[in-house]
Amino acid sequence: MPVKRIAMEHDKKIALVAHDNKKRDLLEWAKYNRVLLAHHKVYATGTTGEVLERELGFPIHKLQSGPLGGDQQVGAKIVDGEIDFLIFFWDPLEPMPHDPDVKALLRMAVVWNIPIACNRASADFMISSPLMDNEYDRLLPDYDSYRSRTLDITR
Ligand code: PGA
Repeated sequence: MPVKRIAMEHDKKIALVAHDNKKRDLLEWAKYNRVLLAHHKVYATGTTGEVLERELGFPIHKLQSGPLGGDQQVGAKIVDGEIDFLIFFWDPLEPMPHDPDVKALLRMAVVWNIPIACNRASADFMISSPLMDNEYDRLLPDYDSYRSRTLDITR
């Protein structure tokens, strides 16, 4: 099956998102990894970004708050190649008003084959990977065959 390669540069574009009950976890993780994170370009949904920027002391590109469309903005940036790494501590024990957006964001991460960590252990393994500080080619299925599929719209 043909594949396409998308280059991830040495300095990565990382999105950080945490639901309210998981913000403390993400903050502790980000503080511990502050030096590793600082040389990447960091994006976050609104409230997560406010908390992290205050505590980490380096600029974070803040999008809308998640329930107001921030998750969808992160998803759109993944599609546009503007985010290539997602740390998303979502809360498995609380229903959210924006559950469909959460599902959509996770789906986009899989469609575009970007690394995602949804809990602290995965984030630890990911941030300490030797691949993190190298260039890396993400492989994607060649979606052109999907785009050019024939549709029977005469029925
Ligand atoms: P928040 O959004 O950072 O604005 O709280 C996170 C989310 O619920 O996706």
